[in-house]
Amino acid sequence: MKIVRLKAKRDYPTRMGHPWIFSGAVDSVSREPRVGETVLVTDAAGEALGMGAWSPASQIRVRMWHTQGQLPVDEGFFRDRIAAALAVRETMGERFATDALRLVNAEADGLPGVTVDRYGETLVGQFTTAGAEAQKPLLTRLLMEATGAASFYERSDGESRKHEGLEPATGLLAGAEPPERITIHEGPVAYEVDVRSGHKTGFYLDQRENRRLIAAYAAGRTVLNAFSYTGGFGVAAQAAGAQAVTHIDLSAPALAQARRNADLNPGADSCQVDFVQGNVFQELRALRDRARSFGLVVLDPPKFAETRSQTPKALRGYKDINLLGLKLVEKGGLLATFSCSGAIDPALFRRVVAEAAHDAGRSVRILHELRQAPDHVEALTFPEGLYLKGLLCEVQ
Ligand code: SAH
Repeated sequence: MKIVRLKAKRDYPTRMGHPWIFSGAVDSVSREPRVGETVLVTDAAGEALGMGAWSPASQIRVRMWHTQGQLPVDEGFFRDRIAAALAVRETMGERFATDALRLVNAEADGLPGVTVDRYGETLVGQFTTAGAEAQKPLLTRLLMEATGAASFYERSDGESRKHEGLEPATGLLAGAEPPERITIHEGPVAYEVDVRSGHKTGFYLDQRENRRLIAAYAAGRTVLNAFSYTGGFGVAAQAAGAQAVTHIDLSAPALAQARRNADLNPGADSCQVDFVQGNVFQELRALRDRARSFGLVVLDPPKFAETRSQTPKALRGYKDINLLGLKLVEKGGLLATFSCSGAIDPALFRRVVAEAAHDAGRSVRILHELRQAPDHVEALTFPEGLYLKGLLCEVQ
């Protein structure tokens, strides 16, 4: 077993169960480990802290599989981790009336770099770190055995693999080719998901409970669904009795799927549905210039801050979009606004929305503080795992 020894006084986070060892905390390495190899991490005095995966290309040099000393990291270990992840979700499908769930949420489930979503009978995985990549064949077999899924498709094509020196990887890992489009359900709402070319693993499951909550306020309202992707919030609002929904997105394929999802759902005949392909920043200004207003405005932009250094620019983006969005809300109407940038914490996000409200001359009250759905579990030892936050507000 190769040994990574930490510098003096750098062992505290690991002892507290934090899964990341940064390069600056490493004092020495016994012999150069292979990319993704499991190593033993010790404190400066040589006491075993836990085992992790070696990532020579990343600033996060080791991602801990556990912080329990010399506990072996073998097939039994990974089987237990997967069983624990599945156990937490066991009743969630029923409780949230859905057949689409995140089954493995990386660090928060003790499996750094491993994300697995289930869409009906199909698993979709992202293996984003050297350690996850090294364990991929084993994890694939164990996940297929534990879930009984028909297919396991890989979508390791996000940006994060670059930081680990890994090439993108997509395609079938196990089982049968998944269907071209998989129909999933969230309560009374159905969505089609394209797991091969959709964003991330195909759908934003992290917004499930927020879609449901916001839809519960949508009856009779006119809805602006900005950054709509394949319909998400707008389709849920339509199914809940919204009077009209306008979806805006840059992506033509996303809007084509949004149209199909709108047609698939309750309200398809009674709700006035429009699709606008364009840049939200420009389209919101155009709506303002036409003196349009809406009973419910949803703002669910992509991540504006990829890293902490991009925070100032991201904050300007969030402020602009919220300022424009707030101006379009009718008096007494609602704004649902989100940020999925991990670098922006809930308090900072509230402050940005408060500044936007001030500049827009609107008085805003928070009805619900929102976050990622509970299948996207957060570990108490890993606060970085909270990335999605939002506010549902009433606007005067
Ligand atoms: N609310 C959606 C998820 C939104 S993801 C759901 O519940 O499923 C963010 C979306 O914003 C993507 O579809 C992306 O194509 C779109 N997008 C990114 N930048 C944009 C811009 N400047 N204008 C319009 N759409 C944009």
